[in-house]
Amino acid sequence: MQDELTMLEGGWMRLKVPLPFSLRFVNAYLIPDPTGGYTLIDPGLHTTAAEEAWERTIDRLGITYDSVRQIILTHMHPDHYGMAGWFQLKSGAPVLMSRASHAYARRLWGQDRAFDAELTALYDQHGMPLELLAQIAPHLESFVALVSPQAEITYIAEGDRLTFGGGEWTAIATEGHGEGHLCFYRPDTRLMVCGDQVLPDITPNVSVVPGGKGGELRRFLASLERLESYDVAAAFPGHRDPFTDFAGRIRELKEHHARRLDMLAGWLDEPVAAYDICVRMFGERIGGNIHNLRFALSETLAHLDHLVDEGRAERVRRGEGFMYQRK
Ligand SMILES: [Zn+2]
Repeated sequence: MQDELTMLEGGWMRLKVPLPFSLRFVNAYLIPDPTGGYTLIDPGLHTTAAEEAWERTIDRLGITYDSVRQIILTHMHPDHYGMAGWFQLKSGAPVLMSRASHAYARRLWGQDRAFDAELTALYDQHGMPLELLAQIAPHLESFVALVSPQAEITYIAEGDRLTFGGGEWTAIATEGHGEGHLCFYRPDTRLMVCGDQVLPDITPNVSVVPGGKGGELRRFLASLERLESYDVAAAFPGHRDPFTDFAGRIRELKEHHARRLDMLAGWLDEPVAAYDICVRMFGERIGGNIHNLRFALSETLAHLDHLVDEGRAERVRRGEGFMYQRK
């Protein structure tokens, strides 16, 4: 447990909050404010192990929960949003997040479970076998406990100025990874809190989900273009370690998607279901893990739909579902 809390420059602290997935950790940033107290960014997924990690951290720092004055969420994915309500109960702090991200959180984990059936139907149309389709709704349902209790949200939006860590940060709306995702940029020190929009070592997931706006990969790439124009000295991501070559990492991500699109286009000689493309692409890595499979299939769909948007492939009806073929 010794490396779970890392001291960063400027008194910032990074807690690696444990996750029961292959990602293993999400980064929570605890940032001291010169006027006293702390700002907390992305507290983690609500598990017993995560509660224990926070208890150890609070003890080790010799602080109290109510010294956390505000909780800022980059987006509503459960590994970032899940503990916000628990932390709010302990600290009384406001939880700040975009309206779009909150709406999506309510759709996923609210009383209305319509999303479960919609996602199952989407995967059914794209060739997922029945025994796996049957696991989708229970899998989604299993997250409700991991994001409860859910926080009262104070809305923030693109262009808003937030004060933390002794500076002023601008919220930047980014697209393609999660609805309503926000990054935060501080111009005087050129720091960027980038959530999951730009990650070192691993590629941020870009997913097609029911009720999405469409063009997920196009919107993700457009957001990368926009972020690339910022002069960034250090970036603080949601996973893995803080890093310095922000523009270089953005170039790598753009190249990754260009290569993957070319590869997929080469697999579409005959009409093929997105599920079969997904298995060919991800192979062993998704076998038997419904969580990984869900992200893999939604990401495969994002790439295939992008090929359709670019006029390189077409989506054809097959029975109740769809297949893709080169144009
Ligand atoms: Zn995420």
